[in-house]
Amino acid sequence: MYFPRPYPDEPTLSLLIRAGRHLGLALPKLIKDIFHADTKSVNFNRPLYLRSISAYTRIDQNSFLFNHTYFPYVTAFLPPRFVNELRSGIFDGSAVANAPYHFLGGSKQKTQFRLRFCVECRESDVRQYGETYWHRRHQLPGVFMCLTHCRPLLETDIPAGSNKMRHCNYLPADTEGKEFPLLIDNVKMKKIAQASIAMLDGQVVNVETLISRYQKLLQRFEKNERNYRLVDHPVYVSMKSFYGERYLAATNFSWYRGTTLVNYGDPCAPVFSTAFRFTTFKHILLNVFIHDLPEDLGLQAEDERRV
Ligand SMILES: [Zn+2]
Repeated sequence: MYFPRPYPDEPTLSLLIRAGRHLGLALPKLIKDIFHADTKSVNFNRPLYLRSISAYTRIDQNSFLFNHTYFPYVTAFLPPRFVNELRSGIFDGSAVANAPYHFLGGSKQKTQFRLRFCVECRESDVRQYGETYWHRRHQLPGVFMCLTHCRPLLETDIPAGSNKMRHCNYLPADTEGKEFPLLIDNVKMKKIAQASIAMLDGQVVNVETLISRYQKLLQRFEKNERNYRLVDHPVYVSMKSFYGERYLAATNFSWYRGTTLVNYGDPCAPVFSTAFRFTTFKHILLNVFIHDLPEDLGLQAEDERRV
């Protein structure tokens, strides 16, 4: 059976939307007749029908998972055991754990994220392929810039986390986007975009390295080592001034006062607290912040705490 092949960086649902058009089938019919699935399972963010798509496109499941789903981004900071379990569940076709993907759609209670595209990428896709498609790297939380063209992405009114068919049948050529207000300076935006795309491209950050980086950061805020667990909040205050409240609010970055990021139950083997919901996006912001932290920023946070 004819089935289109995915374009570079194309997420699964974008391929399904194009497949429906190529085959002359409405998207709900394609999902029911070709994949024998319920349209309620459809979503821009989750891996979908991997086994069948792999058979139709002749791309092995692992390559498809890494190149056309958000799996590598979502799992970049998760412990290897959990990543392997999640991958086996996806390959077996057993219930896909959806929880790790939720944050990609934003939150109905806070900011709901919307699909984005780059005007120049859209024009270039039409020239090269004769049609447009969504790009994964334009949908990553907090990324509002196309790194290929160094220009702001346009935002559509399509909710990124929706599973409603009326939201799921558009390609960039069908929509008009509007410019997203500039919430952060270009240098920081570029660093966040680069770090996010590195995770999407398969870079993995070792958990021990991350904890050690975070502990060094805490040492800069609190000289008394016994008080590590009490100083998470000053780190957040400092991050807030680094990124700006508007950017953090627009990207749903929250921090729970009184909850520590690292659990010191076993002082020789500290782990990230499971109670602290820390997503890939939050880890990226923390890491960019740690790399960029000027010498005097710790002092600034100390001053803010005293006020
Ligand atoms: Zn572009």
